[in-house]
Amino acid sequence: MAQWKRVLITGAAGFLGSHLTDAVLAEGAEVVGVDNLCTGSLENLAHLKSNSKFSFEQHDICKPFDFGEVDFVFNFASPASPVDYMKLGPETLRVGSDGTVNALEVAKKYGAGFLHASTSECYGDPEQHPQKETYWGNVNPIGPRSVYDEAKRFSEATIMAYHNYYKVRTSMVRIFNTYGPRLQPNDGRVISNLMMQALQGQDLTIYGDGSQTRSFCFQSDLVRGIVALAKSGEPLPTNIGNPEEWTILDCAKTVLEVTGSSSKIVYRPMPQDDPKQRKPDITKAKALLGWEPKVNLREGLELSMDYFKGRVAANA
Ligand code: NAD
Ligand code: UDP
Repeated sequence: MAQWKRVLITGAAGFLGSHLTDAVLAEGAEVVGVDNLCTGSLENLAHLKSNSKFSFEQHDICKPFDFGEVDFVFNFASPASPVDYMKLGPETLRVGSDGTVNALEVAKKYGAGFLHASTSECYGDPEQHPQKETYWGNVNPIGPRSVYDEAKRFSEATIMAYHNYYKVRTSMVRIFNTYGPRLQPNDGRVISNLMMQALQGQDLTIYGDGSQTRSFCFQSDLVRGIVALAKSGEPLPTNIGNPEEWTILDCAKTVLEVTGSSSKIVYRPMPQDDPKQRKPDITKAKALLGWEPKVNLREGLELSMDYFKGRVAANA
């Protein structure tokens, strides 16, 4: 794989897009970040203000765009937290469909490689556990989460079509729950909610009885896997996530321990169609990329603490 010279990243002002921007800049490439700031923030890119290799375009990728020649496109634009994508339902469907097509058109025009941020939500409320890439999923096509899940499934179908019909060099990563500094503090995801609640002495909210499971990946592990996958050129979906499976109740208890908080745990109704369990099978990523996560949940929460403390101070 030749060295990247100029890389376009959609969703660059978001949690993952901004960390990916840092990683691609560290590879020596120029980066053009594109974002409409609907859920992201320029604060995530503030440290790059005087970096001459980085430029930013405020643009909604649902409208066609061309910011000059690039040799790789990372497509990370989309609301990602359930609270955000349920508020921005039609926008989420459009960025997964029109937005993905517009990003693919850029890769097609310049003969660039392309990697898309897909999701474990493609598996829905899974009937196979852990989830392998070959599992087709169990998604309610008209439920409240369908604006996200089906948009991402449509993106995957579109990307496969551009790969098969137009020979665009595409890859897709199915990302499992990822957290770390720059996670929006108010986006409703479980780690941001629990950390902010614990650090502010508020009750920790658990939806349902807390027995549902998730597998939490620290951002640096994920980004390392994504860069390796992009370089591999593997066209079929690849899971990247931390296979350590946690109940939400145990996750909340760990947040209390790590923060030293004496907040109480309280129980709230379970949202509709909330997946009961989720854990990636990472056999493929291990064999293909030699990748596996290094940071466990406790360590990752410790590494995120200063960031969340800063957000609490900013809110005060
Ligand atoms: P995020 O909300 O922090 O970042 C998404 C970014 O996309 C934001 O900056 C937002 O402003 C931008 N965006 C949204 N719609 C856009 C549009 N129409 N045009 C231009 N920019 C637009 O979320 P994140 O956690 O960083 O997620 C990034 C990507 O990774 C998303 O595609 C998401 O679906 C995927 N993903 C994330 C996770 C996770 O656990 N964080 C899990 C699975 C998949
Ligand atoms: N959750 C919770 N309390 C919260 C936020 C989320 O118990 O304050 C639960 C949610 O119902 C789900 C899990 O934590 O079972 C992960 O939720 P998140 O929104 O982070 O992501 P999801 O994996 O559902 O997309």
